[in-house]
Amino acid sequence: MKSESNNITNNNNDDFTEKRLQLVKSLQRKGIRDEKVLRAMSELPRELFVSPAFFHRAYEDSALPLSDRQTISQPYTVAYMTSLLNVRKGDKILEIGTGSGYQAALLNLMGADVYSVERIAGLQKQAMKIFDMLEMNITLNVGDGTIGWEEFAPYDGIIITAGAPHIPNQLRGQLNINGRMVVPVGNKESQSMYVIIRISNKEYSTEKRHKFKFVPLIGKDGWS
Ligand code: SAM
Repeated sequence: MKSESNNITNNNNDDFTEKRLQLVKSLQRKGIRDEKVLRAMSELPRELFVSPAFFHRAYEDSALPLSDRQTISQPYTVAYMTSLLNVRKGDKILEIGTGSGYQAALLNLMGADVYSVERIAGLQKQAMKIFDMLEMNITLNVGDGTIGWEEFAPYDGIIITAGAPHIPNQLRGQLNINGRMVVPVGNKESQSMYVIIRISNKEYSTEKRHKFKFVPLIGKDGWS
């Protein structure tokens, strides 16, 4: 299920449709303007990606716990980062930190060709089950995403959904020319969102945006 126009909730007799639309309206009020992001979020069933104990809170605009002390990110954060990524249909996108799989599924729904790396095997397995159920073709790997995924590089976009101590160098090198990377960078308490654009083989532009709080990016070129 890869096309931008797919509506995966249409035939569902979906109790959550109204809640999903309310969430999208609240994101608009908070300043999210990207129509493609808002449309995809109004279709993607977030309740499938949260732990069963938090099912009833799936449409709160808040991060929720997953297993292994990880989290599914707050919808506002997902919308904000995805807007910054400027995704076009057919883009090849690498995500670091599959977690629940929600972010990867959203990118897939927007028409991207998605690759995603997760360091915790149990989370990857659970995400894979949901992608299979939604018939989404997303390429997954278990490993240390701080070194990227060279095999499928270069990428039109890279999104890192865990907080990094600095901009991971190898990941930067796996961007296409004009490709962009969205990454939260800072200490363990708070991170600023950075947008890095590869201008040429050796040149990158860097913009610093709003502050967020993520679980740490752990690995060779992240936190130990
Ligand atoms: N994108 C996820 C979603 O949609 O649910 C949320 C991700 S959660 C905030 C951050 C994830 O990054 C966690 O699942 C964590 O295990 C993972 N992570 C941390 N360091 C990593 C690394 N070096 N490589 C891959 N994944 C990593």
